[in-house]
Amino acid sequence: ELILAFESSCDETSVAVVENGVTILSNIIATQINSHKRFGGVVPEVASRHHVEQITDCINLALAEAKVSYADLTAVAVTYGPGLVGSLLIGVTAAKTVAYAHHLPLIPVNHMAGHIYAARFVKPLVYPLLALMVSGGHTELVMVTAPGEFAIIGETRDDAAGEAYDKIGRVLGITYPAGKEVDRLAHLGQDTFHFPRAMDGEANLDFSFSGLKSAFINTVHHADQIGETLDRNDLAASFQAAVVDVLVDKTMQALREHPVSQLVIAGGVAANQGLREAMTAALATQFPAVDVVIPPVRLTGDNAAMIGAAAHIELAKQHFADETLNAVPNLNFARA
Ligand code: ATP
Ligand code: MG
Ligand code: FE
Repeated sequence: ELILAFESSCDETSVAVVENGVTILSNIIATQINSHKRFGGVVPEVASRHHVEQITDCINLALAEAKVSYADLTAVAVTYGPGLVGSLLIGVTAAKTVAYAHHLPLIPVNHMAGHIYAARFVKPLVYPLLALMVSGGHTELVMVTAPGEFAIIGETRDDAAGEAYDKIGRVLGITYPAGKEVDRLAHLGQDTFHFPRAMDGEANLDFSFSGLKSAFINTVHHADQIGETLDRNDLAASFQAAVVDVLVDKTMQALREHPVSQLVIAGGVAANQGLREAMTAALATQFPAVDVVIPPVRLTGDNAAMIGAAAHIELAKQHFADETLNAVPNLNFARA
């Protein structure tokens, strides 16, 4: 079984060929980061235009690298939400066109399911499992009760973790996206500022990162006003410690309430070294039987291979769309 998968929800145009949901034959990722850097974030109009320019090349490269032709394909899959409407529409239109022209079934995929199913490239998943979904737009604890069945048990009430990284990174003079560089600086410093750990220890599984972001910005601005220079490494380390402490504590709380044998960490922020280290250490002492599954760094960010992995599950269920498929920018899992 071969799936041609499309991903264009934000600022990466990606097309992949995935075999049986677990083997990546190709995964072409055209990033637009350099076009958005000077604006400090993704500009929707610029993103759509790039997707249009890149998508045909991505399809051709994905087929060529996988050494397959349209005739070999079983189905076409595409991210239809959540994301930027203009970006999503380019992938949806391209996928519909290929499906129609080559008489292939069309599989609509939720981008968040894709992030979680990137873990399938590491090892087989065991249900029910818990996923910590941490990305640029989402921070959620998700129970995956069975293949393709998702329920949110906790989520951020304001900013996403990746968004907070990008916003405080800007204050440190780091270009978008800032997560990777803040992570690097954090390993060179110490938690000397003790920023707030919002909602930690509360009897719910929700998160809040906007207070932390404000505390960080206020600290830096106050120092600026009195002509003091703060240590960038310590600022990064203090911010990261606050984010990671809450993510780890809430995940441990979720594991106490929802026994599972696997924990998946998904989304762009799953690349974070501090998070990987702290989560692994906490599991070793509190839940030694829980197996943590984290995709390799190149598969934590947006890519079409993860969409192919999630589509394999939907193909088995014959969950197909027709030519009326539309982008759903605010698509979300249901709250448990
Ligand atoms: P969503 O998936 O919610 O729609 P998105 O697709 O924009 O949002 P991703 O591409 O999954 O998000 O992740 C991008 C985010 O990951 C950015 O905010 C980036 O700063 C962050 N990020 C990447 N690497 C790291 C890292 N090492 N540490 C922390 N954050 C990181
Ligand atoms: Mg991105
Ligand atoms: Fe994403």
